[in-house]
Amino acid sequence: MINQHYRELQDSYLFSTIARKVSAFQSSADLRQKPLIRMGIGDVTHPLCPAVVAAMKEAVEEMGRKETFRGYGPEQGYDFLRDAVRQYYAGRGVLLNAEELFISDGAKSDVGNILDLFEPNLTVCIPDPVYPVYVDTNTMDGRSIVYLDANEENGFLPLPDQRVKAGLIYLCSPNNPTGAVYSRDQLKQWVDYANGCGAVILFDAAYEAFIHDSALPRSIFEIEGARTCAVEFCSLSKTAGFTGTRCGYTVVPDELEREGLSINRMWLRRQTTKFNGVSYVVQRGAEAVFTPEGQRQTSETIAYYRENARIMAQALAAMGVSFTGGAHSPYIWLKCPDGLDSWSYFDRLLREAHVVGTPGVGFGRNGEGFFRLTAFGTREDTEEAMRRMQNC
Ligand code: PLP
Repeated sequence: MINQHYRELQDSYLFSTIARKVSAFQSSADLRQKPLIRMGIGDVTHPLCPAVVAAMKEAVEEMGRKETFRGYGPEQGYDFLRDAVRQYYAGRGVLLNAEELFISDGAKSDVGNILDLFEPNLTVCIPDPVYPVYVDTNTMDGRSIVYLDANEENGFLPLPDQRVKAGLIYLCSPNNPTGAVYSRDQLKQWVDYANGCGAVILFDAAYEAFIHDSALPRSIFEIEGARTCAVEFCSLSKTAGFTGTRCGYTVVPDELEREGLSINRMWLRRQTTKFNGVSYVVQRGAEAVFTPEGQRQTSETIAYYRENARIMAQALAAMGVSFTGGAHSPYIWLKCPDGLDSWSYFDRLLREAHVVGTPGVGFGRNGEGFFRLTAFGTREDTEEAMRRMQNC
């Protein structure tokens, strides 16, 4: 009666174990001189920018007046927002048709829901370490997973293995948790591989706004050939502080077809059947992100987080700790010093520096011996955490 594959899901103990360890430590230690600094959570801390708040307030007013009230909207998003996102892509030379853009309530739902379009007996390639949603959503459907080893040897950026016949491939760049970013050449290898074997790349660009080097691709559609093999998921969560407001977008190109079916049409059918769209108020807020004022305000916040990441990277480099990320990503992925495993380093950092991070092993087997720090905290906390790490 029930989906037996749910039995195969690993319980996620990562954040509950962290919470338990932190609360045990809080009750046993004297934190008055050295309060706890949390650098483990991947959530933003800055509020919505004024342009977004003003747009949402106005939209609420509209919803409260008979003449401007709106009921159900188009499931795939209002044209005003799809056009704004289209212009955003066009600014980087990526030309999309409006019907290739689907407004979502964030990347997580679409990354999971897209699997409705694919049969369960496909081979799925997923990097390790990884954002756990890719693994869990495929496990729920009973798909077999081939892990792509992301490690120091390949700079945490695995490339195609021609011996594997992939059906679906997950790529996330800038990466959570490693902060590593694919180059154009590397993504081109993936695109050629996928076109060659008929695989579909599910490209997670949730952190694209953190890339500040025009040589690095922010969208897979900057790569020639991607329109016949890729779907891209993007989010305003980290770009504009929408983690609690919920809005993102998914690009499904017209040319993407498998077995005579258009993936774009299938996704439209899926969304219009199972999803009733993102609220009008939130879509007006999201539209404001793409105005010149919204872009200026959100980029100030991103610059703040990026400066935190730079401070962290500089301090770690001075300590001789090896790491990836930080330059084009809010994540820093460091190698635990003294050959410690992830949890031992977690305990040591908590005990000696009163700093909380995330043990890398929580993101996959290859994460053992690594540790993730995030740049979403305050400047003061970031600087203080680095001072304490340097001292211990
Ligand atoms: N993709 C990656 C790689 C993430 O790290 C996250 C959130 O942390 C998401 C997607 C989810 O984003 P959203 O808030 O848009 O659902």
